[in-house]
Amino acid sequence: MAEHDFDVIVIGSGPGGYVAAVRAAQLGLKVACVDKRPTLGGTCLNVGCIPSKALLQSTEHYAWLKNASKEHGITATNVAIDFGAMMQRKEGIVRGLVDGINTLFKKHHIVHLQGNAHFTGPHSLEVVNGSERQAVHAANIIIATGSEPIALPFLPFDEKRVVSSTGALSLTSVPKRFAVIGGGVIGVELASVYRRLGSEVVVVEMLDTLTPMMDPAISKQLLQVLKKQGLEFYLGAKVTSANVGSKGVQLFIEHDQKQVTIDADVVLVAVGRRPYTQGLGLDVLTVVPNAQGLIPVDVNFRNVHRHIYAIGDVIEGPMLAHRASHEGMAVAELIAGHHPHVNYASIPNVIYTHPEVASVGFTEPEARNAGLNIVVGTSFFRGNPRSRCSGDTEGLVKVIGEVNTGRLIGMHIIGAQASELIAEGMMALEKKATLSEIANTCHAHPTLAESIMEACQQALGR
Ligand SMILES: Cc1cc2nc3c(=O)[nH]c(=O)nc-3n(C[C@H](O)[C@H](O)[C@H](O)COP(=O)(O)OP(=O)(O)OC[C@H]3O[C@@H](n4cnc5c(N)ncnc54)[C@H](O)[C@@H]3O)c2cc1C
Repeated sequence: MAEHDFDVIVIGSGPGGYVAAVRAAQLGLKVACVDKRPTLGGTCLNVGCIPSKALLQSTEHYAWLKNASKEHGITATNVAIDFGAMMQRKEGIVRGLVDGINTLFKKHHIVHLQGNAHFTGPHSLEVVNGSERQAVHAANIIIATGSEPIALPFLPFDEKRVVSSTGALSLTSVPKRFAVIGGGVIGVELASVYRRLGSEVVVVEMLDTLTPMMDPAISKQLLQVLKKQGLEFYLGAKVTSANVGSKGVQLFIEHDQKQVTIDADVVLVAVGRRPYTQGLGLDVLTVVPNAQGLIPVDVNFRNVHRHIYAIGDVIEGPMLAHRASHEGMAVAELIAGHHPHVNYASIPNVIYTHPEVASVGFTEPEARNAGLNIVVGTSFFRGNPRSRCSGDTEGLVKVIGEVNTGRLIGMHIIGAQASELIAEGMMALEKKATLSEIANTCHAHPTLAESIMEACQQALGR
């Protein structure tokens, strides 16, 4: 160990990398974290989860004032958007949270190296920042280099007219016509932001369903709700080519065996993200990414070297910040000689539209395809007293239980605060709770969470 500068170097300071760095330091290890970005926090904090949620929250307040306040007897006149102020608020939130990580790093004596890191040997990296080059050595190295947006070959990002999520989070004005290619989580969230701000929004999705990873009952309802909010959808449609001009973009799509042209001022391409390992020098390690560019790892997050680990978006699994963080914590503990475990079965998925969508565990088709004997229960928010009071009556809770064990194996929610409500399902899955245990737990009244209890009761025939 003596010949190394650090016990652990983490490449990437996203939710995987910075959490790994902090946990490793807490466990007494000497840690450095490298990032090529000037600010810590990775995609999630700088151009992902946080700025998107800040804009979703601001625009939701605006939409509520315009569309729902009347129902509560509140008259809101002269409600207007200051788009610049909204963007500044978002940037302030990001800055504050980045500062928080800086403070954590200082508190735990983690060395922050700014620059692009590449392997020069199994224990050594060169960090390049402009003309400066620094060689660093570590006993253990964690690759947490994340992912980047995928562009369409005929529609490269210029981040003005053709934007990735990064560009969409930093537009300087609200586009009149906003087209979104890709009906996944990022696509529908950003489509919601600009629809609420008054853009005409069209979403083009190649598959026949929106947000295909969600339970079909939930995706179907989400589609209906978003259509009601004025979003237009082309499902089962393929964008075949495009013309990008100085004033706008024309998209040519195939839909229902017809050619359709969509005119937009700004097009968001949200067709997915790919793992980022560019320039990392994996060849020096004889590590070969798979066909999707992901670094293959074993259960201990290792590839060919026992001291090199990979976590987060750069390895197989859902590209989610909380998954990356959990893996970061697990790897730090592994290095420190502990025996951590990441339970992938209880990792939730959330879409921050209004209403929100959240799920954990098996969807109904997944459970049936796995040959499980299941029981399903549903409770609608329109019958929930708290929903009636708040006015958020759209949506439902769907629970899936396994008949033989009685256990909850999946929970799917579309409704207000679904992102918070799903925590009950996560805990139930983690603790292997049965439907009956949830159904028999006294929930506060009136709360949205009562719908979870009632969905379980319904599944049990009560
Ligand atoms: C618009 C948007 C919204 C999202 N919303 C959510 C959400 O609400 N909830 C959620 O769970 N997830 C969300 N995600 C996904 C989430 O951001 C990612 O899953 C998460 O950031 C992955 O974390 P990570 O640590 O693996 O990598 P990243 O956060 O991508 O961090 C990787 C870091 O590594 C650095 N890096 C890469 N290569 C090098 C190198 N060679 N040398 C030095 N540094 C390097 C990069 O600069 C980057 O900062 C969203 C993503 C986007 C784009």
